[in-house]
Amino acid sequence: MFENLSDRLGGVFDRLTKQGALTEDDVTAAMREVRVALLEADVSLPVARNFVKAVTQKATGSAVTKSITPGQQVVKIVHDELIRTLQGEDAPDALRIDNPPAPILMVGLQGSGKTTTTAKLALRLKEREKKRVLMASLDTNRPAAMEQLAILGQQIGVDTLPIVPGQTAPQIASRAKQQAALGGYDVVMLDTAGRLHIDQALMDEVQAVRDIAQPRETLLVVDGLTGQDAVNVATEFDGKVGISGVVLTRMDGDGRGGAALSMRAVTGKPIRFVGLGEKMDALETFDAQRVAGRILGMGDIVALVEKAQQVLEVEQAERMMKRFQKGLFNMNDLKGQLEQMQKMGGMQSIMGMMPGMAKMAKQAEAAGMDDRAIARQIALINSMTKKERANPDMLQASRKKRIAAGAGMEVSELNKLLKMQKQMADTMKKLGKMGKGGMLKQAMR
Ligand code: GDP
Repeated sequence: MFENLSDRLGGVFDRLTKQGALTEDDVTAAMREVRVALLEADVSLPVARNFVKAVTQKATGSAVTKSITPGQQVVKIVHDELIRTLQGEDAPDALRIDNPPAPILMVGLQGSGKTTTTAKLALRLKEREKKRVLMASLDTNRPAAMEQLAILGQQIGVDTLPIVPGQTAPQIASRAKQQAALGGYDVVMLDTAGRLHIDQALMDEVQAVRDIAQPRETLLVVDGLTGQDAVNVATEFDGKVGISGVVLTRMDGDGRGGAALSMRAVTGKPIRFVGLGEKMDALETFDAQRVAGRILGMGDIVALVEKAQQVLEVEQAERMMKRFQKGLFNMNDLKGQLEQMQKMGGMQSIMGMMPGMAKMAKQAEAAGMDDRAIARQIALINSMTKKERANPDMLQASRKKRIAAGAGMEVSELNKLLKMQKQMADTMKKLGKMGKGGMLKQAMR
């Protein structure tokens, strides 16, 4: 589905990774080509522009280890940025379909693949999540569409709401919910009517249905082949009815992939699934990691760089340990530890691993060292000067005030942080005195 983009990027990075050293001009030239490749794939201009900007910034600021070439490093940065563009900071949570019967509203233009996707998703929920699903077509304009859903339902063994001629869409929605509750269904899927274009009548109807159905999820189905149009449709629907996610259909076709790349960045809404064919099982969970891999087709290099980064982290940890052995522990060290904690999930998991630290871990927990607190402490350290971080004892009251204000916090919080650093420094000194073969060395094994 991303063949052209993939080929274009492949050419750029093949050249880049073969070079030993990279000049800024090399990177700039490569990024120009990346930008063109993205635009040709129908990625929206601001998204392409931001993408290139982010990659350039990271590529010029990043540390390179001996074992990889700068070009390989750039490939990894592009890979990570692709993932970020495709899904934002984090992959979305699971669909909110606990609390039965959970209504899922399916919306979109006619011909986008809405009815097909409704059935595909119902089958998926039935088979993979063992949910009892009831489907209902609200397309009162097109009896054929209602028939289509009923036939698909029979095919996949999922119940559909009996058709009652003459009811309005909101009436059907209300009946579907009642029926689902009475029948003990887990999920009720509402396949709304589509039009060829977005118009007021369509939006009014979908809004009315939404108000009655109170959906837990509102999934917009859009045709992935339509590129930027798909993104525009999503923006419109989100503005008028509010959507919780997107399904991109026809991603098995030779679309240029731009819709997938722009969707999240422009609408802020996650792509949930991709349709990959007409068959009922041709629906995949959208996995940014996998898609980025497909676009770049450079999994080997990405894995190589990831490994090199791990080595780099181990080297940094070893350097830190050496400082601790000497009894040194300033704000930079504390920041390093806090960042490590953020990565590994909590104070206790780290301190618990170090002998003699269990007690401190308990204190830290009591002091409210959760993730938010950690982020606040890092913000405080960031607002100190280099000198102050290396030697926090020098801080006078006026500077303390400025630092706290700079981080948007109270001086009392800064004092707590300083106390913590001091305690840790003292502990380090004690442990350091126990000699080179002492506790810290053992803890490193
Ligand atoms: P609706 O009008 O939005 O309900 O669209 P339909 O569900 O009736 O789908 C229109 C056509 O697109 C049908 O022929 C489907 O089989 C086809 N279709 C739906 N999803 C996909 C997909 O992911 N890939 C391909 N190749 N065809 C699809």
